[in-house]
Amino acid sequence: LVEPVVDRPRMTVIGTGYLGATHAVCMAALGFEVLGVDVDARKIEALAAGRVPFFEPGLEDLLRETLATGRLRFTQDFAQAAAFGDVHFVCVGTPQTKGSQAADLTYVHAAVDALARHLTRKSLVVGKSTVPIGTAAALTQRLQAAAPAGAAVELAWNPEFLREGYAVADTLTPDRLVFGVTSAWASAQLRAAFAPVLDKGTPLVECDLPTAELVKVAANSFLATKISYINAMAEVCEATGADVNLLARALSYDARIGGRFLKPGLGFGGGCLPKDIRAFAARADELGVGQAVAFLHEVDAINNRRRRRTVDLVRELAGGALQGVRVAALGAAFKPNSDDVRDAPALDVARMLHEEGAVVRVYDPQAMGNARRAYPELAYVDSLPAAVHLADVVVLLTEWDQFRHADPEMMGWLVAQRKVVDGRHALDADAYRAAGWDYRALGRPLMS
Ligand code: NAD
Repeated sequence: LVEPVVDRPRMTVIGTGYLGATHAVCMAALGFEVLGVDVDARKIEALAAGRVPFFEPGLEDLLRETLATGRLRFTQDFAQAAAFGDVHFVCVGTPQTKGSQAADLTYVHAAVDALARHLTRKSLVVGKSTVPIGTAAALTQRLQAAAPAGAAVELAWNPEFLREGYAVADTLTPDRLVFGVTSAWASAQLRAAFAPVLDKGTPLVECDLPTAELVKVAANSFLATKISYINAMAEVCEATGADVNLLARALSYDARIGGRFLKPGLGFGGGCLPKDIRAFAARADELGVGQAVAFLHEVDAINNRRRRRTVDLVRELAGGALQGVRVAALGAAFKPNSDDVRDAPALDVARMLHEEGAVVRVYDPQAMGNARRAYPELAYVDSLPAAVHLADVVVLLTEWDQFRHADPEMMGWLVAQRKVVDGRHALDADAYRAAGWDYRALGRPLMS
């Protein structure tokens, strides 16, 4: 018996955080009818009222446009979701488990259980969250056990590669789509769900469930490794007087290496890379192949050493001790164009400086609310001039344009001492030195 494939499947998106809200809005923008589902009442109310509860360029405008078409709605009601959707995208969080390196699947299980019991007809549940390999197979059983008899529900995996800060463009025009499927019906259903994206010529890789799960963690591991590779070279540079910026540039002209993600500095953070490489290593251990990815522990360690080294540079510039030193910490988000402070290197450095007795003032153009909630012990100010006012040392931690383009001469008038640590290789070293600043950066000798 050939199962019918719905031409234009109606979709639900379960979990409307950074990933889910973006996916729901973009799918509605592509012409589908979409229902966003979350257990967080405040998030649902905000989205339904046209407000994105986090910072993502372009998303709020698109949310308002799609709400106005009537194609996009939001609910907390799983029964409504089950009745509405042909395809259900699961986009809930998979954070690191407290006290362990492994991923916490509590939210995925809760979302699938809550949906499954209401499913009454053939439907496809599609995992988008980043999960350990083997999760999809286990979830298939869970789903089928929880769904009422006759619901004939199937599971597929469609890992997500969007980048915060570019989430809308990455969703509408992704580099590739990956469909982990176990039947021709699921494949056809997903092809229908992504037809407008596939029609643009987006490459599609169709595969089994474990490969689909693995693509995501393998990609993130590669990116994390590339960053830690150049940061490991920065450590070597620091011991030899070589300049990691020039090294990275010279390496980047080799097309086999390439320059993207080869940027030395304070390293990676956020809600994905750190927890994904840890969860991958933990899962590989469980599978008996821990040695194959043992290098990921080193990747993580190199990354964390950069944070400590940044604190060392600030201390050195301050004359050897941090007690009472006024530090302007520029940036809190884990990267520019985001308000996400999950595992943010910037806030980790600010916290370490604070713990050593420095008087730290943090400013970030978008992440102040999240930063205050994450580290209430730090002092926050609401502008760049307020942060640098009478500072003994300025430390750039997140490379927002506003900081990159700040005039070193004007900043110089505000600070107590013209001393700057560039944690992101984002400032014009020559311009700062010309304006009389003592400029330091990770992996660079004093005068390059
Ligand atoms: P997030 O914390 O911003 O969003 C998760 C959402 O799920 C929250 O709104 C939460 O209220 C909701 N939720 C929790 N339990 C629920 C339940 N039982 N039912 C319905 N909703 C529930 O997280 P995120 O950054 O959007 O990440 C989600 C997943 O996507 C993670 O697995 C992450 O690794 C992956 N991912 C994220 C990105 C990114 O850039 N943020 C990119 C690719 C993949």
